[in-house]
Amino acid sequence: MATDSSSRNDLRLIPPRRLVAVLLSVSLLPLGLLGVSSWVIFGRLLNQKSLELQSTIVEGHAKAIDLYIEERVRALGFLIDARTVEESTSEPVLKGILTHLNRSYEDAFVDIGIIDSEGKHLAYFGPYDLKIRNYREAEWFQTVQKERIYVSDVFLGYRRVPHVVIAVRADRPGGFWFLRVTINSEQFESIVHTDYLGTTGEAFIVNRQGRFQTGSRTGPVMEMSPLVSPAWHTGVRNSRLEVGGVTKFQATSWLNNDRWMLVVQQDEIEVRQPVHEAMFYGGLLISAAMLVVVVTTLLATGYLEREIGRANKRREEIQTAFMRSAQLASIGELATGFAHEINNPLAIISAEQTNIKDLVEGLGSDEALGRELLDSVRRCEKQVKRCGGITLKMLQFGRRGASELRAVKLIVPLEETVRLMRKQAELRSIQLILEVEAELPLVQVVSVELEQVLVNLINNALHAIKQDGEIRIEALRKLDEVLILVQDNGCGIPAEHLDRIFEPFFTTKPVGQGTGLGLSVCYGMVHSWGGRITAESTLGQGTTFTIRLPINSTPD
Ligand code: ADP
Repeated sequence: MATDSSSRNDLRLIPPRRLVAVLLSVSLLPLGLLGVSSWVIFGRLLNQKSLELQSTIVEGHAKAIDLYIEERVRALGFLIDARTVEESTSEPVLKGILTHLNRSYEDAFVDIGIIDSEGKHLAYFGPYDLKIRNYREAEWFQTVQKERIYVSDVFLGYRRVPHVVIAVRADRPGGFWFLRVTINSEQFESIVHTDYLGTTGEAFIVNRQGRFQTGSRTGPVMEMSPLVSPAWHTGVRNSRLEVGGVTKFQATSWLNNDRWMLVVQQDEIEVRQPVHEAMFYGGLLISAAMLVVVVTTLLATGYLEREIGRANKRREEIQTAFMRSAQLASIGELATGFAHEINNPLAIISAEQTNIKDLVEGLGSDEALGRELLDSVRRCEKQVKRCGGITLKMLQFGRRGASELRAVKLIVPLEETVRLMRKQAELRSIQLILEVEAELPLVQVVSVELEQVLVNLINNALHAIKQDGEIRIEALRKLDEVLILVQDNGCGIPAEHLDRIFEPFFTTKPVGQGTGLGLSVCYGMVHSWGGRITAESTLGQGTTFTIRLPINSTPD
């Protein structure tokens, strides 16, 4: 059981800056972590997706080119299946066929020729003079005899112009013949060079040896590509190249029955530009969210601070009002106790005065009467002194911090008090033990007052023990305070009294033995030094008074 005489209401605010820091870190940290991790994951995902998209586009483009060739091969196959060689060997017929084909395929063909099994041109229609040419030795002619359909690589041929031919073999019971067309290179190139590759990208075709089949920024048609060395693979293969200090993204796909490789190259920076843009806006969004959190936190904290300030002010006003009413009540009690205490000696003085008056009237020369008169005067004197003692204590209770505080080594007043009180204690067989921790820091007290406080506490303890017991006085350091403990193994204080023992005139001692001012004076003094005094007690076992004094930080 314990009571704290200081009962301060120390509701302290967290400093606003620390509150802001705490709030910001608990909200920004997870948001930041979430933002950064999603930014990184989102970035990786976007990169992956952009490469996948690039691959899909390249794959689609390769298929479109393949389809372009296939369509034309199929058209030629259809033509050749539907005719005999005799029907096709006249120039007007070939002209009609070419016109018809170019109408259907948007000028896809340059010329057309019918060739017999010996490689001799039976008929030709086109801008070159090739009628008399024999193709027996030409590579395309030898291949188409074996494979029926042949799409050549780019070659110069008799016309000395790079071109691609498609040749289809017509198998007839009496032998075979060939239909051969030249593809419109410009149209073919325009199909290969798509415009989805931005400013740095290009698409071109190389053959198995790495020779350009369409023009490229790195070389003209039929030249060997300086950068690409074709290796067979399925699907689309992605890789990176360093060209003149620039990293290029390259995707390749085989087409035309794996005879050509479509190559798509683009600066990596351009490929990744949409990713960077998305990441930039993502980062902007996260930063905006963080800014909103910071602004909201600052506004909310400011509002909270103002509200807490208002609440604190209200609390202080209520507390002040309460303390004022408690003080008034205390003063009321004080006045009652004072009147009661002063009345007794005054009644005695009054009685003694009547006595003196009677005695003076019958004085004469009676010696015995004279002695009685003197006794009466002494009694008056004693009661007046008692009144003086009561008023002195009241004055001490009322005085706060009037005496000069000094940084004091506690051992000195403690030893002095124990020396003073030892005799009284010994008379009642009560042991007075003093234990002072070595190297105890200095504390700010008024030495004489401290001795008075200790005398009061020891007196109360002696009274509580009566006979045979122990009073232990200890001084020790605890954190930034010095504690003085006065412990006794006396009768203890009942719980209902414990809250009141520091009140002026509260006493349980018989009339004439206690004024009830001792502890209230102790309370007043300890508080005037900036300390606190508390009591703990167990009925029948004893009481401990604890004085807490802040450690003096200034040197002696
Ligand atoms: P007084 O000693 O004149 O009664 P105090 O203010 O010193 O006045 O003490 C108030 C009351 O507190 C005492 O009457 C007593 O009941 C109680 N008290 C104080 N000290 C002790 C103690 N060590 N043990 C038991 N009761 C105590």
